[in-house]
Amino acid sequence: MTAPFLPFTRPAIDEETIAEVANVLRSGWITSGPKVQAFEAALSDYCGGRPVRAFNSGTATLEIALRLAGVGAGDTVITTPLTWVATANVILEVGATPILVDVDPVTRNIDLDAVEAATTPQTKAVIPVDLAGLPVDRDRLYGIAGKHGLRVIEDAAQAFGASWNGKPIGHSFGNNRDFVSFSFHANKNLTTSEGGALVLPADIDPGLCERLRLQGVRRFPDGGMDVDVLGGKFNLTDIAATIGLGQMKHLAAFTTRRRELARRYFDHIDPALGLEIPVADFSNSNWHMFQVLLPAGADRGKFIAAMKESGIGVGVHYPALHLFSLYRALGFKEGDFPHAERIGAATITLPLFPSMLDSDIDRVCAALTTSLSETA
Ligand SMILES: *Cc1c(COP(=O)(O)O)cnc(C)c1O
Repeated sequence: MTAPFLPFTRPAIDEETIAEVANVLRSGWITSGPKVQAFEAALSDYCGGRPVRAFNSGTATLEIALRLAGVGAGDTVITTPLTWVATANVILEVGATPILVDVDPVTRNIDLDAVEAATTPQTKAVIPVDLAGLPVDRDRLYGIAGKHGLRVIEDAAQAFGASWNGKPIGHSFGNNRDFVSFSFHANKNLTTSEGGALVLPADIDPGLCERLRLQGVRRFPDGGMDVDVLGGKFNLTDIAATIGLGQMKHLAAFTTRRRELARRYFDHIDPALGLEIPVADFSNSNWHMFQVLLPAGADRGKFIAAMKESGIGVGVHYPALHLFSLYRALGFKEGDFPHAERIGAATITLPLFPSMLDSDIDRVCAALTTSLSETA
């Protein structure tokens, strides 16, 4: 008997959550309501009591954070080319200019020295990304942000459950002037199927955040309403929030299990294969992904096909975004960010999700050996 196909990720939704979703569906109130409020309260509690608002995607939280920070035409925002393209798209969406800087080849996160060097009077904000759940160095990040008066919008889409110096990502590491954005997309460590949440700084009005989330509508006790700002349609549903509430109960166990599985990869990947492995961090990272770089010369397409043939799904997260047509049209080109380009061209995401068995890791490691020998 052959083992079933192993995908690179799979959400873990328990039966209690499924039953609770069914209750919401039967309740007569299926859009934003009490479950969203309860989810926001649970998230706020997790983030040290900071105000948190739920959204229908992580992308929406980033875009609204930029608008709340007053970023628009004529402003620049610094971010990394090695991220899901959403991180940079939202900068264009609000009419600002993305300034990309290269990544650190070891952590694969944005190079903070390069951030400092790229800062100009036009720089309104910086969006660091905790790639694969490995947190960007918060001490250094906020040192630079403080020195240059930069607003930080943490794209922590992949870092829910991760921590910095023992405190969960979502807490403030920047004098409460920082935004933190989470995504609850199906592949993220905590999911609502689709969704996101924005942790707000102390100087931002949560009411304005709510209006930007939903058509700019302000409601009055007498039944009247007004619209004084252009808002979008970014609210989360109670159906989705119910999934999130069910997931919160397992967050700590999810992270623990992901760390165990990551450790097993470190112990079992054959060093002779020449794969470049990630930073071995077992206290901060939530191990959202375990990514290896294929050796120079290996054909990634053939490797992916060979892994699939062995019953193993792998992913690619991500090609360097400045080489996408939309960004090339803005003037970015090959050679601009050599580390991001090399990593983006060689990266492979191996299976890693909480319900994986130790024996699944061993299967992946065995398949790595055979697949690489076929594609070198
Ligand atoms: C998933 C992700 C996003 C976008 O989140 P969505 O919920 O899919 O909109 C943004 N940035 C990064 C780094 C992500 O991984």
